[in-house]
Amino acid sequence: MRWPDAAAVLQGQSFRNVVLIKLQMPDAMCVDSRPGWQRQGRRVARGASGIRIVASARDVDRAAGPVQGHGVATVWDISQTEGGPMPPIGDLRPEHVYVALARVALDAGYRVNRRQLPDESTGAITDRRRRRVIVSDDLDGAVAAMRLAHELAHLRMHKMSPDSGCHGLSKLEAESVAYTTLARFGVLPTHQMASAAGTIGRNPPIRLVETLGGRVVAAAGRLIGDTERRLSAAQVLRDKTRTDPICLDMEDRELDRGL
Ligand SMILES: [Zn+2]
Repeated sequence: MRWPDAAAVLQGQSFRNVVLIKLQMPDAMCVDSRPGWQRQGRRVARGASGIRIVASARDVDRAAGPVQGHGVATVWDISQTEGGPMPPIGDLRPEHVYVALARVALDAGYRVNRRQLPDESTGAITDRRRRRVIVSDDLDGAVAAMRLAHELAHLRMHKMSPDSGCHGLSKLEAESVAYTTLARFGVLPTHQMASAAGTIGRNPPIRLVETLGGRVVAAAGRLIGDTERRLSAAQVLRDKTRTDPICLDMEDRELDRGL
């Protein structure tokens, strides 16, 4: 759970770099290169020591030399910069994230419905044949968003037969992507992920961790990006009406009609 938390705040970084950044500066929230900060109207504080990460070819810091065939780049956390106000922290409700996720599903051709589901279900099911996701009626906003993000992660990452179910590594990946996505928007449910981490044991092989971490961070990054684009539309709606319950009710009905 610590790594998905870190991946959520350090969006856009590879899993390997999320690990490297957190090892060097556990509280890092948002990193960029020196020219990157300059473009955002900030500058790196004098004497601040940078964080070394694995660079893509174009960002290589030539002075630092190669590390295992990769380049090294130096970045700084926002707390090491000065100038201008800090970027505002979002004020999102889980319902908005849910609506945005439902729109992301619709973009992929899947309708999202709320309905009573049998007790033994995990709160959401995906019917790939009829191209729809059903989220249980009983769930509150944050949990509903979490279940929907989990189903979207499966849809994007796993080829599942209608009855292959949700277990093992697929479950761990889908749950980690959902967790990272909701953490990014600050709307995690109080009862967080049913730990699927037991699947990989206490000392998993490094290669497995790297593969899983890479897949989760990449998939979460894409889902977060798509959701962000859909969120702006949902927020406009909220700002226009101001009367939240009515507005959300309307959005739900809109979603039930499949938009
Ligand atoms: Zn699942």
